[in-house]
Amino acid sequence: MSAEATNPATPGPVVPAAPRRRSRPRIDLRRLGRAALLGPASRGRLPDAIGHVVESHRFHHPDADLEPLRRAYVLAESSHRGQMRKSGEPYITHPLAVTLILAELGAETTTLTASLLHDTVEDTDVTLDQVGDEFGAEVRYLVDGVTKLEKVDYGAAAEPETFRKMLVATGNDVRVMSIKLADRLHNMRTLGVMRPEKQERIAKVTRDVLIPLAERLGVQALKTELEDLVFAILHPEEYAYTRELIVENASRADDPLAEFADAMRAVLRDADIQAEVLIRPRHFVSLHRTARKRGRLRGSDFGRLLVLVNEDADCYAVLGELHTCMTPVVSEFKDFIAVPKFNLYQSLHTAVARDDGQVAEVLIRTHQMHKVAEAGVVALGNPYAAPPEEQTAPDGERVDPTRPGWLSRLLDWQEAAPDPDTFWSTLREDLAQDREITVFRPDGAPSACPTVPPAWTPRTRSTARTPTPASAPVSTAAWRP
Ligand code: MN
Repeated sequence: MSAEATNPATPGPVVPAAPRRRSRPRIDLRRLGRAALLGPASRGRLPDAIGHVVESHRFHHPDADLEPLRRAYVLAESSHRGQMRKSGEPYITHPLAVTLILAELGAETTTLTASLLHDTVEDTDVTLDQVGDEFGAEVRYLVDGVTKLEKVDYGAAAEPETFRKMLVATGNDVRVMSIKLADRLHNMRTLGVMRPEKQERIAKVTRDVLIPLAERLGVQALKTELEDLVFAILHPEEYAYTRELIVENASRADDPLAEFADAMRAVLRDADIQAEVLIRPRHFVSLHRTARKRGRLRGSDFGRLLVLVNEDADCYAVLGELHTCMTPVVSEFKDFIAVPKFNLYQSLHTAVARDDGQVAEVLIRTHQMHKVAEAGVVALGNPYAAPPEEQTAPDGERVDPTRPGWLSRLLDWQEAAPDPDTFWSTLREDLAQDREITVFRPDGAPSACPTVPPAWTPRTRSTARTPTPASAPVSTAAWRP
């Protein structure tokens, strides 16, 4: 975040930055020759500092052209040189960390390029025109969007109008928002160096604006970590207590979830269904919510089981086996495949019980659904790219069922709320219901392509809640005793 960039008036002690290459090193033929002999081409030419970014990016996009990343890093590093983070680290560590977060989520190359450059226009001599000339109109647009957002959310941050402005600024390209979320995550991770008042202020903006947005955009991986970071700052005692519970549970001799997982693997093996059964520990806030709901926590409450399969149909096959061979808790069954959540989340939810009272919550989804569940819009890539020629992946799974309509649904939803207060309260109601949201049309039919007209509100099937007071923060409502 630019607020953190400090330009020492006098050139301070020189802190050795990550590899310094002021001007682009000339092509070194000897090195290229070696690289050609030793393995993957061009790898040796990339600055070490972006090694992790490149590795993650290659994992998701094996054919990506890495040249823009290299150039963006070189420009960002040279232009931020001499600037420090509050922590004393060279400033370039920040755009690098932000870019790594996005690369791990599977963002495409243009987003990563813009992410490396995201603070240059705000904080250095680099101009937008220069970014445009060197990296093209798309990168320029993204950097410009992030720079504008920087100005929006510092101010009367939690105001509905502010929130709306943020959406308008990014409405045309949600990749701007992806960068903003990753930016905020890294700043929250490194918030410890700030004064407590400042920590609290930033944590509140994160809670009121960024977390709801991460939820909306389906970026679960960022949302959960942001929630825990905010929780630790705004509710330190409850955070410490939750932490204690987790440590205590980790030292238990038996782990009911592991036993459930073993039983499930056996059931699915017998049924000849290819599936991965994983244990997903709950994040702090989720565990805290569960504890408040249940009173006393069972060993099986500390995580959930995640069953990953290859194709949509397998999800129902797994469900059938689990419901046949184990004891289902019927009230826990939800089909978010047939009726995806607003933010594109898809999964089957169920729970199975044991005689000793342990109950394991189970999520069943395909690998593709998992990717969308974790990375949301980030996994959707470039909203302007031509849709893939065929909508079917080699394994028969739909490539991206949401892509063409997704962005327009977000925009419809935004336009459907004519005034900021309606917009904000609709959002707040949605979020107050946590992940239990299913959207229904006014005629009562579940809508697979939900838009949110102002005349009605989403409903939940879960227990009635006391309405959140208009001024209450969104996502902490559930944390308060
Ligand atoms: Mn930043």
